[in-house]
Amino acid sequence: MPKTSSLARQLKDFGMYFRQIFHSPSHSIGYLLADMSACDAVLIDPLPEQSELLLALLQERDLRLLYVLRTHMHSPEQGHCGELCRFTGAELVVGIDSPYDGPAQRKGHGETVVFANEVLRVLATPGHTPDSVSFLWRDRLFCGDTLEIGGCRLDAAQSDPGQLYDSVTQRLFLLPGETLMFPGHDFNGRTVSTIAEERHRNAAFAEGCRERFLTANARPEPRPPSPQPRQ
Ligand SMILES: [Zn+2]
Repeated sequence: MPKTSSLARQLKDFGMYFRQIFHSPSHSIGYLLADMSACDAVLIDPLPEQSELLLALLQERDLRLLYVLRTHMHSPEQGHCGELCRFTGAELVVGIDSPYDGPAQRKGHGETVVFANEVLRVLATPGHTPDSVSFLWRDRLFCGDTLEIGGCRLDAAQSDPGQLYDSVTQRLFLLPGETLMFPGHDFNGRTVSTIAEERHRNAAFAEGCRERFLTANARPEPRPPSPQPRQ
């Protein structure tokens, strides 16, 4: 399993800066990617609570933040990093079905985000939330909460288990096995995996059976309204 430090060294060789930004209280992971020769940077899923740290990281390396990319939002208010965007002039990029109604670039499946000479490809991966997307950059996949290392993440109110299963098995698992997979959270001290490892070892998808996945992750049926007493 490649360690993040060696991954960072490999990228440095071709003028890139890559950093995982962990937020302990929420176990969330954000990502900073930068082209050091152009001094251009993007952030994936940064937390507003970390704006000061993020600005310091950018200033320390004299980086211009071009885009703040969000893999998904659970509400229009959550995590759009408006202050960070206003302060840096960065544009927000969200999935085409995002609940966010402010100014943002909305990207659908197959569209791209370009910074310096780098291209991030947008993959629609709905399921965890209806607007979930993943970003593929070089050999790295940033999948937000669509796929976790060894499992998956379902939100009782917003997730659609069938969509999630299809997004993971018919989109993410079809990427080359050596693709590095960077999740949106870490609860077990592991912050990087590969598509090959998740295909073979991810407990949530190991049985390769959609019906079993749906049974294991069934949402409780909404209760029928109780009959009104007759007047
Ligand atoms: Zn989420």
